[in-house]
Amino acid sequence: MRKSRFLALIGLLLGLGSPLGAILMRATLSPLPFPLFLSQEWATLQPLYIYMLMGTCAAFALFGYGVGREEDTLIIKDIGLKKEVLTDPLTGLGNHRFLHDAFKVEFRRHVASRRPISCVMMDLDFFKRVNDNYGHPFGDFVLRQFAVLLRKCIRKGDVATRYGGEEFLCILPNCGKEEARAVAERIRGETEHHVFLNGRRRVKITVSLGLITSYKSSGLNYRRLIQLSDQALYEAKRKGRNRVIQTILGTNQKFQRLEPAKK
Ligand code: GH3
Ligand code: MG
Ligand code: MG
Repeated sequence: MRKSRFLALIGLLLGLGSPLGAILMRATLSPLPFPLFLSQEWATLQPLYIYMLMGTCAAFALFGYGVGREEDTLIIKDIGLKKEVLTDPLTGLGNHRFLHDAFKVEFRRHVASRRPISCVMMDLDFFKRVNDNYGHPFGDFVLRQFAVLLRKCIRKGDVATRYGGEEFLCILPNCGKEEARAVAERIRGETEHHVFLNGRRRVKITVSLGLITSYKSSGLNYRRLIQLSDQALYEAKRKGRNRVIQTILGTNQKFQRLEPAKK
């Protein structure tokens, strides 16, 4: 319920107190028994009580509504600011700060539920060349388009963020190794086949991905998962780019590295 409506309601209830209070005060001063006093009071002062009831209810309700409206506006502004602080302006994805906030929450859920969690770090291949050959604005266009493509490839409930520059990171909650692999391969494949087209400029690019899937998290924290996905990404680059390297963190915290997928 909006604060303005809530405070208006409270005002209305407080407004009822004014005529009730007056009746009670006058009843204590009256020698008559209460039922008799009430009927006499009502017969003689009915217009006054109705005036008090309506007047104080309206005044308090309006006052409550006014105060509540100011608070509502502040809350809406606050939500807008928070969103701005957590959003990457170029792509509209969550930014680095949002990533940490979201990962903390998802990692806690992962530990509590004992369900697996995956995260995938991505870096566009040879992106500097795109800027060098077609200009920075076109590079920005590619980054925006890649963000759209990324959103389409992940599942509902996954979190896509821009890690920085031409690097992106997705959190895949409740996602085991096969499913995570499928998501990562989908991103890789869709990027490889996409034509980034803006006016006369058309470019094809690829992306390298480092994927980590954790089944058991004792002793780990989410930052370690980010580190491991970054290491896997580095390996994907080293092995020739346009590929997924997956690290699986198993029950004994042993790492199982999968070979790059066939392209
Ligand atoms: P690699 O395959 O090793 O990742 O090569 P790369 O060229 O992608 O990597 P490198 O780190 O050499 O270059 C990254 C480039 O990304 C350089 C930088 O100008 C560009 N870049 C980073 N942020 C932005 C941005 O917001 N907009 C544009 N247009 N370019 C960006
Ligand atoms: Mg990079
Ligand atoms: Mg790059």
